[in-house]
Amino acid sequence: TNRGDIEAKTVGCVAAGNSGVLAKMAGLKLPLESHPLQALVSEPLKPVLDTVVMSNHVHGYISQSDKGDLVIGAGIDGYNGYGQRGSYPTVEHTLQAVVEMFPIFSRVRMNRQWGGIVDTCPDACPLISKTKVKGLYFNCGWGTGGFKATPGSAHVFAASLAKGEMHPLAAPFSIDRFNTGALIDEHGAAGVAH
Ligand SMILES: Cc1cc2nc3c(=O)[nH]c(=O)nc-3n(C[C@H](O)[C@H](O)[C@H](O)COP(=O)(O)OP(=O)(O)OC[C@H]3O[C@@H](n4cnc5c(N)ncnc54)[C@H](O)[C@@H]3O)c2cc1C
Repeated sequence: TNRGDIEAKTVGCVAAGNSGVLAKMAGLKLPLESHPLQALVSEPLKPVLDTVVMSNHVHGYISQSDKGDLVIGAGIDGYNGYGQRGSYPTVEHTLQAVVEMFPIFSRVRMNRQWGGIVDTCPDACPLISKTKVKGLYFNCGWGTGGFKATPGSAHVFAASLAKGEMHPLAAPFSIDRFNTGALIDEHGAAGVAH
């Protein structure tokens, strides 16, 4: 760490978009790509939308916060990177999707936009796994859909670290699946492509 060494027999790494960077420090290359995923927030409006709307067809989602801001997002930026900004073509595509669903929002001004870094696996499923470095485990690869799953996965991850063996619920998410070919391939589960 930047405050010196910390020693432990077992280390669990849960650094999401930076997992690949940490893996590299241990001489590992994970089957992960890091991409920016953007979100946008508009100026506040009076109540106009009382539910979350998501379209897989035009690929965008929108809801209205209690403060009145529209909260808007879509897919990842196509390039790999760690810049927490994202690119304009993705902003344009996102807003095109929203305006196609709701033409009424075409004149709404955006207040801010940012990008977080998401860690995506080729089969769109996470890695909850031992590594070839003894005592080093990773729980990552949750991509654009980890809100619901990361708290639960933490329980099986902690149990795995405590016992030194992967919990049966975590076992299919091993890094080895990219060697054995036993991929999980649940792109549809999140309802979004990443
Ligand atoms: C704009 C955006 C919108 C999203 N929308 C949704 C959504 O609608 N639904 C959904 O399910 N998911 C969504 N996600 C994805 C969701 O945020 C992630 O899948 C989830 O947060 C991953 O959880 P995590 O615990 O693996 O990592 P995180 O919650 O990202 O935590 C990783 C932690 O590691 C820390 N860290 C990183 N590097 C280091 C280091 N070198 N040393 C120490 N600490 C480090 C970070 O600071 C961070 O606190 C969205 C993501 C973004 C960016």
